[in-house]
Amino acid sequence: MPVLLYHKVQDVPGEIAPAAFREQIAALHAEGWRTITMTALLEAFARGDVPEHTVAINVDDGLRDVVRTIVPALQAVGYAATVYAVPGRVGNGLHMTWQELAEVQAAGMEVGNHTMDHLDLVTLPTDQVGWQIREADRLLRSELPVPPATIAFPFGSSDERALRVVRELGYRLARVTKLGCAAPRDDPLRVPIVMSVKDGDSTAAVLRAVRRCER
Ligand SMILES: [Zn+2]
Repeated sequence: MPVLLYHKVQDVPGEIAPAAFREQIAALHAEGWRTITMTALLEAFARGDVPEHTVAINVDDGLRDVVRTIVPALQAVGYAATVYAVPGRVGNGLHMTWQELAEVQAAGMEVGNHTMDHLDLVTLPTDQVGWQIREADRLLRSELPVPPATIAFPFGSSDERALRVVRELGYRLARVTKLGCAAPRDDPLRVPIVMSVKDGDSTAAVLRAVRRCER
């Protein structure tokens, strides 16, 4: 199954323009692709099920474009996504507020853990690795109606220390940024992406990427 990754969708040079994002979503929809959240993907895989013609859309970092542009574009075609939020940056002007993250959940999106400060975990002392994951988990639980159930590591970077904390907290899915197709037989704590979509990537390239992971 394909996991598509997005970050920013903004009308500024170097970022994916809202019109380009809407075109990509419309093209997926026109090809009959359905979407699935990462928690639903995990549940499907646990049953040994690979939903057909289905893509998981992930949006990392929880920037304000999510609530302004991305969620409305997805909702227009009945799509869901998983948004990985960085609690240490919530409400700082660039990133969504807790209220906006709650609205994103109410719109049918999943909100997951992207750690407290978006640091590269493998470079940190062990107590910091634990704190970055646990503190983000604690805040997401206390500030949002729906608790987080999945995590994405900043820079896709994790090690055994991080994975131990993730397991202790009860997360059963972690997404990285290695390229590949998600499959039930693979380690759910190392779920790959098929493409990190950037400015300049064509709609055709996005469609080709997701088709590569069709079974
Ligand atoms: Zn990130």
